[in-house]
Amino acid sequence: TQYIYRFGGGVSDGGKGDKNLLGGKGANLAEMASIGLPVPPGFTISTAMCTRYYDEGQAFPASVRDEVANGLRHVEGITGKVFGDPANPLLVSVRSGARVSMPGMMDTVLNLGLNDATVEGLAAISADPRFAWDSYRRFIQMYADVVLELDHGRFEEALEIAKEDQGFYLDTELSADDLRKLVAEYKALVQELWGKPFPQDVHDQLWGAVGAVFGSWQSERAKVYRRLNDIPGDWGTAVNVQAMVFGNMGETSATGVAFTRDPSTGENGYYGEFLINAQGEDVVAGIRTPQYLTKAAREAAGAKPASMEEAMPQVYGELARTFDLLERHYRDMQDIEFTVEQAKLWMLQTRSGKRTAKAALKIAVDMAEEGLITEEEAVLRVEPSALDQLLHPTLDPDAPRDVLTKGLPASPGAASGKVVFDADTAERAAANGEAVILVRVETSPEDIHGMHAAKGILTARGGMTSHAAVVARGMGRPCVSGAGTLSIVAKDKIMRCGDREIREGDILTIDGATGQVMVGAVATIQPELAGDFGTLMVWADKVRRLRVRTNAETPDDCRTAREFGAEGIGLCRTEHMFFEASRITSVRQMILAENEAGRRAALDKLLPEQRSDFAEIFEVMVGLPCTIRLLDPPLHEFLPHEEAEFEDVATATGIDIEKLKRRAAELHEFNPMLGHRGCRLGVTYPEIYEMQARAIFMAACDVAEKSGEAPVPEVMIPLVATRRELELMKLVVDKAAGEVFAERGRTIEYLVGTMIELPRAALKAGEIAEQAEFFSFGTNDLTQTTLGVSRDDAARFLSVYVEKGIYARDPFVSIDVEGVGELIALAAERGRATRPDIKLGICGEHGGDPASIAFCEQVGLDYVSASPYRVPIARLAAAQAAL
Ligand code: ADP
Ligand code: MG
Ligand code: MG
Repeated sequence: TQYIYRFGGGVSDGGKGDKNLLGGKGANLAEMASIGLPVPPGFTISTAMCTRYYDEGQAFPASVRDEVANGLRHVEGITGKVFGDPANPLLVSVRSGARVSMPGMMDTVLNLGLNDATVEGLAAISADPRFAWDSYRRFIQMYADVVLELDHGRFEEALEIAKEDQGFYLDTELSADDLRKLVAEYKALVQELWGKPFPQDVHDQLWGAVGAVFGSWQSERAKVYRRLNDIPGDWGTAVNVQAMVFGNMGETSATGVAFTRDPSTGENGYYGEFLINAQGEDVVAGIRTPQYLTKAAREAAGAKPASMEEAMPQVYGELARTFDLLERHYRDMQDIEFTVEQAKLWMLQTRSGKRTAKAALKIAVDMAEEGLITEEEAVLRVEPSALDQLLHPTLDPDAPRDVLTKGLPASPGAASGKVVFDADTAERAAANGEAVILVRVETSPEDIHGMHAAKGILTARGGMTSHAAVVARGMGRPCVSGAGTLSIVAKDKIMRCGDREIREGDILTIDGATGQVMVGAVATIQPELAGDFGTLMVWADKVRRLRVRTNAETPDDCRTAREFGAEGIGLCRTEHMFFEASRITSVRQMILAENEAGRRAALDKLLPEQRSDFAEIFEVMVGLPCTIRLLDPPLHEFLPHEEAEFEDVATATGIDIEKLKRRAAELHEFNPMLGHRGCRLGVTYPEIYEMQARAIFMAACDVAEKSGEAPVPEVMIPLVATRRELELMKLVVDKAAGEVFAERGRTIEYLVGTMIELPRAALKAGEIAEQAEFFSFGTNDLTQTTLGVSRDDAARFLSVYVEKGIYARDPFVSIDVEGVGELIALAAERGRATRPDIKLGICGEHGGDPASIAFCEQVGLDYVSASPYRVPIARLAAAQAAL
């Protein structure tokens, strides 16, 4: 096997299609080199090597050493420099790069190849020796941190002291001599903390760094990141070894990061930051305040330091042309890293840029309208679940706000919550159901779990491309970064802003769209559904096959769902209507009645209430199919508990209270979810379903009379296991329908069907379909009954199950395709065999989960049903599944 892939100097052993092998960074470096962009030469050690490294007990096979030597010769040949040669030393960077970008991974090591001899050589051949010593001190510091894992605070301290001694503020003020002294101190620190001298052999340096990159694949941070992002552990990472170019060679040198479009808003314009006379991550580390890329951005921000467009117009021009070229080449918005060495531009990275949901939407629609991609590609470009961010409220611009301070609008959306100052507290509070805002001076990969747990993130330092900003945008968390007026003392759990104090637990609101930070909670408004969102939805609707309905039981929910594009109701649960205060006494009266007459008396009181419930819903959904599920929950759930509740029932019925209590005790169940519920209620007390069916058909007639258009009721019998159960219940429903239609002198089309939520029902679907005109897969219960796991009790162990890979995802969130999915596929097939035109749908939480929707498309269901806010997500996911 070949483990090394070269790039640069007219050679590209790989390309953008090789991400699995070369990692994203390596594949794109090779691609950029192959399309003629200026990329410093280098080579990529493939992910296959990482896998092998772990297979062989973290050792390198001998053949790889030869391959690496060849790779180095390739770089030496192009640059004319020699690795480890004091006369003309080649320096390299060692960069990790997995298939997908992973902020939890090892940091890059720059300037590798410097030692006490080569630094002198480099200084001798450079116009300004300062740059050689700056590079060496950076190298030792980075190597000590990421490879040797020594306490980097000590190195920073030494640097601070070196500056303070001279009364300096910036690193750039240190002279060559100052830096030479600092290097000596750094080497002493390495000796002290590591017990050995800093490695002088450049090959030891290289293998140390390569080993550290592979080692970082199994670091805790990386594991957490993989878990949160569903990244398999066996992918491995690649390592890129690349000739250094120097942004720290003086005033005509610089380093920067850019997006080809605004990653927050999606606005079509270059967006980025750069720093003159700087290297690597100086821009994102917040050491100096970076300068804007474009003149327009600088002016808009009212900032003084020249933009790159103004300071280096020629290089900027070349950079801008490169942005356009890369966007056209990759047909997507790019996130780019570059360095300018003495007025020469070098490209160091490109990848599809992370973006907010809003930006994803705008960029997809814009690019389709620009003709860069097709409408169908645009539909595929937006992550359905990311729409969630856009469908939720933002701050009401007219609501009063008590503005504390303003930072940078780093990630949009608004959030309110209690202030916490560290990630662990954030995680704990969130686990208790509290909304928290994580406040940090700046964030680092160690904070990721807290950022995930928080509703929003606020930092005092860092720009638009800081760690906090990038990670928050990726997670869809609102973030305000670089709120410089905040003085945060995390250990005392307090922050100050002017003369105001905010303590842990105080409520703050952040607005990631404006950067405002407010004391207290601020009112919100509903999102805008027209514009780009509307356009994309139209494109999605053109390609999707699956219909999308909603789970709704109130007229309000129905209206919201229709605005979001629901095409009917997939599940209207009737029990919620029974819990209402005005009705619960009648419900209890019905349950506790001793005989049918007593039950009927109570049901007579409930009938008009149900009838008006249904009429209101039918009015909103007129012309659309409405699946109404007859009473499902265990009677147990409706039983009175408090003395006063028993008294209410006693008064209503005239039955002795002690007798009622005895009856309630009789109805107690040990395992109500497998007890007297679903169609078992209808089988034992048919009058309940009879009343509900009458109410449905009366309401349907009411609406038909009033509006001239009839609704399409689909009466659904829950928890059926056998054909006979459904047959009995269908008789009840059909009889009620016949009676109502005779009374009203009109007929309304309706269907009777069942939920498939028990394994037996799935297996016997062929027989059940003789009675059922539709199946709706009730995947919440079907998951519980198939896995034998109670959803309400699963929290205690399910996360461990997912962690240990027993289930790939939480099966209550995303369908267990292998198990539950097989039952669904089988039931669909057997149902269709009996009744070819049987309607098939899915209700339950899974109906709004994109992965589950893809599965529904695969088995050819007719529709999915999701809660109102997830309807657009389902529409988009259904479209993507069809493409
Ligand atoms: P990350 O994955 O964290 O972005 P990178 O490998 O991209 O890490 O390295 C971070 C930064 O280091 C780059 O943006 C670039 O500024 C600098 N860098 C990396 N390799 C080189 C190089 N060969 N020459 C100059 N700078 C480099
Ligand atoms: Mg990094
Ligand atoms: Mg990078």
